[in-house]
Amino acid sequence: MTRYNAWNLFKQGLSGQRGWSPAWGSPEPKPRYDVLIIGGGGHGLATAYYLAKVHGIRNIALLEKGWIGGGNTGRNTTIVRSNYYYPQSAAIYDFSLRLYEGLARELNYNIMLSQRGIINLVHTRHDLEGARRWVGAMNANGIDAELMTPEQIKVHIPLLDVTRSARYPVWGGFLQRRGGTARHDAVAWGYARAASALGVDIIQNCELRGFLMGNNGQIEGVDTSRGRIQAERFGMAVAGHSSVVAGLAGFRLPVTSYALQAFVTEPLKPVIDCVMISFATGMYLSQSDKGGLVIGGGLDHYLSYAQRGNMPMIRNVLGAVADQMPGLGRVRLLRQWAGIVDVVHDSSPILGETPVPNLYINCGWGTGGFKAIPAGGYLLAHHLATGRPHEIAAPFTLSRFTSGALIDEAAASGIPH
Ligand SMILES: Cc1cc2nc3c(=O)[nH]c(=O)nc-3n(C[C@H](O)[C@H](O)[C@H](O)COP(=O)(O)OP(=O)(O)OC[C@H]3O[C@@H](n4cnc5c(N)ncnc54)[C@H](O)[C@@H]3O)c2cc1C
Repeated sequence: MTRYNAWNLFKQGLSGQRGWSPAWGSPEPKPRYDVLIIGGGGHGLATAYYLAKVHGIRNIALLEKGWIGGGNTGRNTTIVRSNYYYPQSAAIYDFSLRLYEGLARELNYNIMLSQRGIINLVHTRHDLEGARRWVGAMNANGIDAELMTPEQIKVHIPLLDVTRSARYPVWGGFLQRRGGTARHDAVAWGYARAASALGVDIIQNCELRGFLMGNNGQIEGVDTSRGRIQAERFGMAVAGHSSVVAGLAGFRLPVTSYALQAFVTEPLKPVIDCVMISFATGMYLSQSDKGGLVIGGGLDHYLSYAQRGNMPMIRNVLGAVADQMPGLGRVRLLRQWAGIVDVVHDSSPILGETPVPNLYINCGWGTGGFKAIPAGGYLLAHHLATGRPHEIAAPFTLSRFTSGALIDEAAASGIPH
């Protein structure tokens, strides 16, 4: 793998940039692997990378039914943060943010991490009280957070109507300075390139169609659109299709799949220097490096596998933008799209063991798993390699739905669901 650095850029420039090696290989599937990962989103790719890098396992295949990063990883609004309430969530999401902070250097790939800060807006006196408690909880968990007045918020978002007569008056908010955005494709591609360089076989256009079960209840192999492949251990990170793949392995998951939509506008001059989120209206917004406003909203109100936008969500989300930032009312929309996200009752992920002894899972990140990609991959790799959950992952087992030890992060998960 040719390293990406100024010297190599200069050297390749002398030959018209034609000497770079492909970022990752396109191997034919081998008949047998030590570990097989299903799903080529960020979580699957990160799992493959950490298995090879941290645990020294090199005989790994990653199966992706389409193209890597083509699921939610390449469709999300790129926000990274660790502003959660409970200590278990703070541990996992801040671990992820810390991995993100060193990721570009580690992968030798510019993931364009921009820690520009994220502001949660508060629109009522009662929510302000909630925000105080939230900031207190975050600080107690060792995570940076500070309350803000409407005037302080206005400095970051000059177009925001913070007057008390506004449709959604702003009573204040709170800021996590270390939150921000990262380039989603780059995260997928960076992990893919680094994993491939360590010998991982990344097999695209390869759909898992069934599991080959042994007599002892373990999985012996998989049936795919590119033939049968055997392995000793299996990891799945297929987000919105988790219940489908679990069904193929013979068990049910407490996961429901919804479309989550996002929008981008035409490029503008800088109008906001942070990420803003308004829980009351279910709308959030940041500005991309190209100048487009990247806007997100809540889940569709019905279950679906249809990866597309629709008119009701345009009205809800863009109406909220125009209400809160009237100066943006005439900005033109460029694109609208959707991904299929995996929602769990307590809005927390499911990590680790499944009812099938050699199949391990990473799912349930719902609307907020981009920020968790480094941690999700690291923790699934740990479980696959050692057979035990990492201590950070231990509270997030599937068994919490029978023990009742839920971690209810519905409020912090970003948007209402
Ligand atoms: C519009 C939108 C906005 C979002 N915004 C944010 C945000 O700002 N911040 C944040 O943290 N999170 C956000 N999210 C959530 C985040 O994108 C997801 O939680 C995260 O990308 C999940 O990553 P993943 O690798 O688990 O899943 P995915 O990226 O969806 O990857 C799963 C892969 O599995 C593959 N697959 C499925 N079935 C099979 C099969 N049978 N065989 C082989 N491959 C299969 C799929 O093709 C897919 O590529 C958003 C999501 C959406 C849709």
